[in-house]
Amino acid sequence: MSEESFDVIVIGAGFGGSACAGLLAKKGLNVCLVEKNKVAGGKAMSISKNGHTYTPWVVIGAPVEDNAYQQVLDELDVADLATLAVPESSGSIYKTPEGKYVRMPAMPASQFDPALMFQWLGIPEEEQADSLGFFVQMVTMAPDKIKELDGTDFESWIRSFGIPDSLYGFLVSLCCDGMFMVAVDKLDAAEAIESLQKMFLRGGGIFAKGGYGTVAEAYCEAVRRNGGTVHMGTRTDKILIEDGKVSGIQTKKGTFKAPVVISNAGIQPTVLRLVDEEHWDADYVKYVKELEPSYSLLGYRYFLSKPITDAGFGVIFSNTSPWTQERLDLAHQGKASREGVVYYEVPVNYDPDAAPEGKQMIMTGSFCPADPDMSKEDIHAWADAGEKIIFGAFPDLEACIESKDMYTTKSVSNATRDATVPGAGGETIGLAQKVGQCGSTKPDIASPIEGLYFVGADAGACGVGTQMAILSGVKVADTVYEKLKG
Ligand SMILES: Cc1cc2nc3c(=O)[nH]c(=O)nc-3n(C[C@H](O)[C@H](O)[C@H](O)COP(=O)(O)OP(=O)(O)OC[C@H]3O[C@@H](n4cnc5c(N)ncnc54)[C@H](O)[C@@H]3O)c2cc1C
Repeated sequence: MSEESFDVIVIGAGFGGSACAGLLAKKGLNVCLVEKNKVAGGKAMSISKNGHTYTPWVVIGAPVEDNAYQQVLDELDVADLATLAVPESSGSIYKTPEGKYVRMPAMPASQFDPALMFQWLGIPEEEQADSLGFFVQMVTMAPDKIKELDGTDFESWIRSFGIPDSLYGFLVSLCCDGMFMVAVDKLDAAEAIESLQKMFLRGGGIFAKGGYGTVAEAYCEAVRRNGGTVHMGTRTDKILIEDGKVSGIQTKKGTFKAPVVISNAGIQPTVLRLVDEEHWDADYVKYVKELEPSYSLLGYRYFLSKPITDAGFGVIFSNTSPWTQERLDLAHQGKASREGVVYYEVPVNYDPDAAPEGKQMIMTGSFCPADPDMSKEDIHAWADAGEKIIFGAFPDLEACIESKDMYTTKSVSNATRDATVPGAGGETIGLAQKVGQCGSTKPDIASPIEGLYFVGADAGACGVGTQMAILSGVKVADTVYEKLKG
């Protein structure tokens, strides 16, 4: 068994881990990146099947302009290895109170037009001025005013404006349910408003050709090009602690030593599984155990005999699709409708090489709890609710299905983080961006053990899933570099 030494070890090549490892290697540190899967990208890896290539579930990036994917690709000199793509317009669909599915008018991703949006949402002319007033106030709110809302829930804030139900349904379904996967009455208002501003002012709906995994793979290549080591297919079994400080990791390939270990494995699996309990203070363990995951998505990938839409992505929603915590709890117990918002993505409509000639794959995602051990009945109840909506919005879809497969919270957990707390593991984002665990109360990137850091969606940044994880990678790389060089 080998025992090699490095300046820094990064566990996990998700977006946070791979960006952080690439940046530290570029700064000249001797980096070892260790990933349990054979491919990089974690929750947004790429896969190929029967001539189709895609991110395994619906992943929609925001913002578009000045996005973090490209900034780090450029910084690492690997922009030639991944190509981002922006579909011409969103294929979002509003289900009217009369049950009609109406597609959003064409608008380029970065030129959002509120007047067109209000017409589409059926907002009467006499209510449009107030709706515009609300909208402008939200997208121009100054950073210090946003900060004051840290700790307030988004539902209380948005309801105080008395906006029309359809505008509420649109903002909460498209933006909040989709960006954060947190019930609207638990979502932190500051986190939500900052991300909504970015999305409306800098565009939403960016993807990567060949799936998002190509971006994380490029970051891993930067580690290699800068003299670092990447071990794919290598699970970290234990983080080693000596005299109260981190000293390395243990894997089946051997022990790797370093004074700094950065974990992208999720704060709960890192604290509750990878480090022996004796090294933690009991209060910290209690705090970590009580952190809550975001909700999740499950859905189908429909492989179709012919194209049924020209949209690259979209969200299907109604006035009643937004999720409150009470409605989610009741739906989970089978006591309320499971019909919520449904996202869909059609990779071949932004990447012509993503499907065989003349074919199309459409994948869907609808809300569900993060539990990777949901019963079969529960899985099907959530999936059926989503399927009913996609078949309603695309009446031609069902007849064109050649095959279909399903992804669940179990698929997400298997591909990314271990389930260490009951009900957690299959979450989409990471920790929920809910009141009390984001903004000023987001977990610290530095753990109480000297030399052990967290990177990724759980710590260090705000925003939307993948880009938040990359921004965390940037922050942790800067912090660790300063510490080691200082
Ligand atoms: C269904 C779904 C839909 C989503 N939709 C969107 C979206 O529309 N837009 C968006 O921006 N984001 C979306 N996300 C969220 C986004 O993908 C994640 O928030 C982000 O990718 C998390 O990155 P991360 O770096 O925190 O960690 P992860 O992606 O969880 O990566 C962690 C990595 O660590 C590895 N690892 C874990 N344990 C070990 C170990 N013991 N040893 C070695 N390696 C280990 C894992 O294999 C993984 O590669 C979605 C996620 C899912 C699952």
